[in-house]
Amino acid sequence: MPKNVPAYGARAAKAPLVGLTIERRDPGPHDLDIGILYCGICHSDLHKVNNDWGSTHFPIVPGHEIVGRVTSRGSRVDRFQEGDLVGVGCLVDSCRTCPACRAGHEMFCEKGVTFSFDSPERDGTSRTYGGYSSRMVVDERYVLRIPKGLDPARAAPLLCAGITTYSPLRQFGCKSGDRVAVVGLGGLGHMAVKFAASLGAEVTVLSSSQEKEKDALRLGAKHFVTTREPEALGPLRGSFDLILDTVSATHDMDQLARLLRSFGTLVLVGLPPSGVTVDVSGLVHGNRRVAGSNIGGIAETQEMLDDCGRSGVLADIEIIRADQINVAYRRMQLGDVRYRFVIDIASLGG
Ligand code: NAP
Ligand code: ZN
Ligand code: ZN
Repeated sequence: MPKNVPAYGARAAKAPLVGLTIERRDPGPHDLDIGILYCGICHSDLHKVNNDWGSTHFPIVPGHEIVGRVTSRGSRVDRFQEGDLVGVGCLVDSCRTCPACRAGHEMFCEKGVTFSFDSPERDGTSRTYGGYSSRMVVDERYVLRIPKGLDPARAAPLLCAGITTYSPLRQFGCKSGDRVAVVGLGGLGHMAVKFAASLGAEVTVLSSSQEKEKDALRLGAKHFVTTREPEALGPLRGSFDLILDTVSATHDMDQLARLLRSFGTLVLVGLPPSGVTVDVSGLVHGNRRVAGSNIGGIAETQEMLDDCGRSGVLADIEIIRADQINVAYRRMQLGDVRYRFVIDIASLGG
């Protein structure tokens, strides 16, 4: 019998999130039943609820930065025990056999990845519901181990904001002494600053919020520049090896591309609803590169969590109750996030 589970979600685009009841499948032999403790709020949840990308199916229960405990396990589960502290990120299934899955890039599964929420289940009939809920049933292959000693609430944002910034820093070879700019100091941005600084890079934060300067320096940045004063960017022209752009709204890309040194790379991870444009000549003159990066695969996510277990890198969070989600969404829309809202799932009841 499927289980009824309390959740928080939206019934229509831009509608406030409200309490809902959803059904979870019975755990199969390879599944873990997870009692959710904490779930981070990513700006992608907000884009999805607003139907910014035009792809949302309602009702929707967002949430893909999930930490919980295994409450029961299927008969053929061999990597987890009851009581283990585990994480679930953006992915909960994929075909497992295509070249992308075999290479550990499950997010690019050629047969279609199953995301944690608003995605067709592999049975082709039901849809997935995310972590703003008290329980979840997930195949153990897509479940991450949270290293011992990490605060579970502060670890939750690692499951998306963490891997989404860790992965491009690794892909583009960020190393000690590199000059790295992080654009937008929100959930992703603050993790990017921490990871880049921990790799020994000299980090500059480019932010539209002057009042975040002190925080940027505390998080590990050496410099802070406000993008609200374009003339402040002049002296930075041609100076960065790598720019990680986490901004969630349309903004001036050419201004950023000009800050790259020759052969430098501007990596886009933010997903503004109406996209961005870039001037070709600014790229050609300087062999500058523009790239994108999408979360990370399961093995890379585990590697990132294990690294955080050793280094102690965690998110800076504000814990909220489920009935504060709508306020958190409004604050996020205004860029007022310090630096990830995390829902205490006990506040949902159930
Ligand atoms: P967030 O916490 O809301 O942070 C976004 C930051 O962007 C804000 O704090 C603000 O920083 C800046 N910003 C917002 N609106 C702006 C505007 N109009 N002009 C200039 N700057 C603005 O969001 P997040 O959770 O980090 O997510 C950021 C983006 O990444 C979203 O679009 C999300 O969908 C996307 N995302 C992508 C992936 C992926 O796999 N590629 C994964 C997760 C999320 P300042 O105050 O410092 O300017
Ligand atoms: Zn996310
Ligand atoms: Zn596949």
